Formats: sequence, structure tokens, C-alpha cells
Amino acid sequence: MKIKIFSELDNQEALETVAKLLVETYNFEVVVEYIGKILDHNSFNNKRKQYDAWKLVEIYGEKRRMNEYLLLIVEGDIYASGLNYIFGLAWQGVAVVSTHRLRQEFYGQSPDRQIFIERLVKEAVHEVGHLNGLTHCNDRRCVMAFSNWIGDTDYKSWTLCQKCKSKLGKLRAQ
Ligand SMILES: [Zn+2]
Ligand SMILES: [Zn+2]
Repeated sequence: MKIKIFSELDNQEALETVAKLLVETYNFEVVVEYIGKILDHNSFNNKRKQYDAWKLVEIYGEKRRMNEYLLLIVEGDIYASGLNYIFGLAWQGVAVVSTHRLRQEFYGQSPDRQIFIERLVKEAVHEVGHLNGLTHCNDRRCVMAFSNWIGDTDYKSWTLCQKCKSKLGKLRAQ
């Protein structure tokens, strides 16, 4: 398997760190492509002023190649029906992560490069975990813990707990 990242985010340091930690966690080849614009009117919900994450994974599902996972990194705010917002979503080989609520500025704080990159890494490792068949973990420090708000993301680590690690090993052996 290979992971292809399509990114709207133009931040080489962040993308390189994400790629490096995905390789470290999943041992896949990772290719990063900065493609400018991913979000457009096709996934925009006029009423909510947010982008529909399900739409996105559906649209990009058609662009996905065999033996490849797609990870979209987008800048706009995304949602899934039933939820006010989400940090990311994964479905059938395609995952999306939004940077929108990962920046300190969003919470009225001054920008912090390090915090932003850490959050992005965690959300990317989390969504790629879903692509691999991992589900949410009860260990709040595990990267597969569900993030209800940014505090959950900050609390969890970017690594898989032992349980999720062995689960991943079993999933891959199938
Ligand atoms: Zn999740
Ligand atoms: Zn876990």
C-alpha cells in the first residue's frame, strides 16, 4: 500500500512531518502532492457555510488508484451530517483532514507553528488508522481516541497504543 497526500496546505515543514510520521507508524510509502485547491462548490454547503466531508471522500474515491490510500489535507471547515464540525473523516480508502480548527488563531490565541503541526500529525495518523481498519480507542492517550474538541486532540499522543498496534498487525496479516 502507498499513501498519497493531496494537500491544500502549503506548508512544507508540516507536510514533511506528517509524511515522516505516517511512514514511521504504518511503514507505507508516502507521496505528498501540493495541489492548491481541493475544496470547491461541489462539496460546499451554502446553508452551513462548511464543506461536506462525505461528499469529498465520495468525489476523491473516484480518483483513487488501486493499492493506494488518499489523504486530503484541506484548509476549510468540514462537517458530517449530525455533527457541528469534524477534524477528519475516512471512508473506503479516502481520508480528509481539515486544518481549520487546528490553528491556535481559530481559538483566539496567537499562532503556534509547533502546536499546529502536532495537531495535524495526530489527525492524519488517526484518519490513516481508520483507512487501515482501526476503530476508535478508549485509551485517551492513543492516537485512535476520538476527538470531540481540540482539547482531546491536544491530550492524545500521535502514536498507537499497544492494543491498536497489535490490532493493526492482525488487520494487515489478513
Ligand atoms: Zn476517528
Ligand atoms: Zn489505541
